[in-house]
Amino acid sequence: MLNWKPPGKKAAICFTIDDIHPAKSTDFYEAGGDLEKGALGLVKWLLDRHPKLKVTLFTTADWREISPVPTRKVLASIPGLREKFYLARRWKKGTMNLENHPEFVQFLNEMERAEIAYHGLYHVHRGLKIPVEFQDQSEEEFKVILDEMLRVFQSAGIEYVKGICPPGWNAPGALLDQLSKHDFDFVASARDIFTAISKDAKTNMSGIKGEPLIYPSILKNKKIIHFPTNFQANSTMERAKEIITNEGLLSIKAHIVKYIFGYTAIDGVDELYMNYLDVLLTNLEQEYGDDLWWTSMGEISEHIKNNN
Ligand SMILES: [Zn+2]
Repeated sequence: MLNWKPPGKKAAICFTIDDIHPAKSTDFYEAGGDLEKGALGLVKWLLDRHPKLKVTLFTTADWREISPVPTRKVLASIPGLREKFYLARRWKKGTMNLENHPEFVQFLNEMERAEIAYHGLYHVHRGLKIPVEFQDQSEEEFKVILDEMLRVFQSAGIEYVKGICPPGWNAPGALLDQLSKHDFDFVASARDIFTAISKDAKTNMSGIKGEPLIYPSILKNKKIIHFPTNFQANSTMERAKEIITNEGLLSIKAHIVKYIFGYTAIDGVDELYMNYLDVLLTNLEQEYGDDLWWTSMGEISEHIKNNN
């Protein structure tokens, strides 16, 4: 079995947040751009309450999505044609590009116990599944997208770990091949908040299926580490405890935006969800104490690279 945690630690906790980009509340929705005064302020509150907690901020290089669902309804109803078009308005290229938001980049870089990783280049795709950026592209097309995504991060001066959560969870084989060739350490593709917890449980919901539900793994023939997501706002305290008693990785997910155009993200960062995590983490700390490794996907990846 993969050696993924230090000796003496029975289980681990990590926390990741998707869709981080510079949009402010004066835009269509806030996604971190209000800094301390917005959703990231709530995340900081949770981090302050739990001095061992770490967070991975999955950040998009040049976010262009406005609506996650089609607004061009007529076009969206015509099979064969709808796949060829963007079915909702998009931000103009560069509007949310990290290179154009130095204050935002500085805020992320200075956030304590926060690491930044990738969450796509534009976070949009033609056709019905707008947020699922990586779909049917060729490996060559994925190479172009990844090259640009990496360039933007470099040029913006953002400090990052070499991991990615693909928008909408989808990670096709050709993308994984390109991630390996670009020396990525990890991909966080599978989310499964329904499958019952056991040592042998496999991911079977969104993203890559058949990988361990409560442990990191190395994807077959890909030379890249995979992390599952197994907990979100509507998961129970019992589920968290089952993961820990099975010596697993409790992998908690949130999305930075709570409301988008009448669409509500169940696991969006708001006071209610942060309060729930506060209660959960306090409870786990009391019950398991030093048996727990409070860590991050970047840190676990380093451990795996150094110990396997
Ligand atoms: Zn996303």
